[in-house]
Amino acid sequence: MGRVFNFSAGPAVLPEEVLREAAEEMLDYKGCGMSVMEMSHRSKMFDEIITTAEQDLRDLMGIPDNYRVLFLQGGASTQFAMIPMNLMKTGKADYIVSGSWSKKAWKEAQIFGEARCLASSDDENFSYVPDVKTIEVNDDADYVYICQNETIYGTLYRELPDTKGKPLVADVSSCFLSEPIDVERYGVIYGGVQKNVGPAGVCIVIIREDLIPEEKLPGVPTMMQYKTHADAKSLYNTPPCYGIYICGLVFKWLKAQGGLEAMKKRNEEKAQLLYDFLDQSKLFKGTARKEDRSIMNVPFVTGNADLDAKFVAEAKEAGIESVKGHRSVGGMRASIYNAMPREGVEALVAFMEKFEKENL
Ligand SMILES: *Cc1c(COP(=O)(O)O)cnc(C)c1O
Repeated sequence: MGRVFNFSAGPAVLPEEVLREAAEEMLDYKGCGMSVMEMSHRSKMFDEIITTAEQDLRDLMGIPDNYRVLFLQGGASTQFAMIPMNLMKTGKADYIVSGSWSKKAWKEAQIFGEARCLASSDDENFSYVPDVKTIEVNDDADYVYICQNETIYGTLYRELPDTKGKPLVADVSSCFLSEPIDVERYGVIYGGVQKNVGPAGVCIVIIREDLIPEEKLPGVPTMMQYKTHADAKSLYNTPPCYGIYICGLVFKWLKAQGGLEAMKKRNEEKAQLLYDFLDQSKLFKGTARKEDRSIMNVPFVTGNADLDAKFVAEAKEAGIESVKGHRSVGGMRASIYNAMPREGVEALVAFMEKFEKENL
């Protein structure tokens, strides 16, 4: 059986070259006679893997020296708690709620302090990003929180809020490395890698050094303290070794593709193909507001749940995998991450055209 075009939101498609390379090195990593999965995380071999991965990520994103890169576990969801635990010094923070993920983060933060909702797009089923130009950040906020790309609703912040000097914390799980970003505009950038970077099990946190508490925080579990992981260079305990190794291969792949400028161009072109089709279609309709459309996750509907289900089933038969929308919104969603080739999007559009002719 050949490979399908996998539009899953996550875990998601990875570059075929990376999978082949990992397969070749599976039994004997660079002549050491064992797999990366089998070696000590304290070995020289693994030290080189994690050090190189971090450096390549720094090169790709242009991460300044005063930011630390942490390879953690527990998924993006653990960060919903770690962020307030470590950053809420006065016990107050401002959240912008633009979809399910930022809403979850906001709710979790309420366990630890006063997490205020500055703006929300709940009124229109999160089909847009709240206008960040008019946002009034509170003077006593320890940080301002956004989810930069809402994976389920398919919206992307093209402009960052003016946080009046407060650290901006951004969940970038589903847009990680999809385009260049100015790291210095953020206090914390984090994401689970299983969307656009690597296999499930690794969460990368890029944090400005001064936001890492200098002293151990009383009452906070050791594993939940950024200081623990920063001091130990992500090796306080056993890290997700194999996942970090695959992320490292993906970073090398991204460099070979021309870096994040090149990825942005390719991603925008792929997204345009799909949006152009949706905008003229008489059957399918994109659900996110045009100005806020994500270039990674593209949700769409026919307006008829039975027809949506038929589309998903027939697409699967045609080698177009996992286009079912998230269970909370229904319809369809095509996730077109870095590793989705243009041919995949072309195949999807061709299939949608055919389906429209047959079902309109
Ligand atoms: C998938 C996702 C999460 C949750 O990630 P886990 O690693 O499963 O905890 C959080 N935020 C965004 C934007 C996501 O897409």
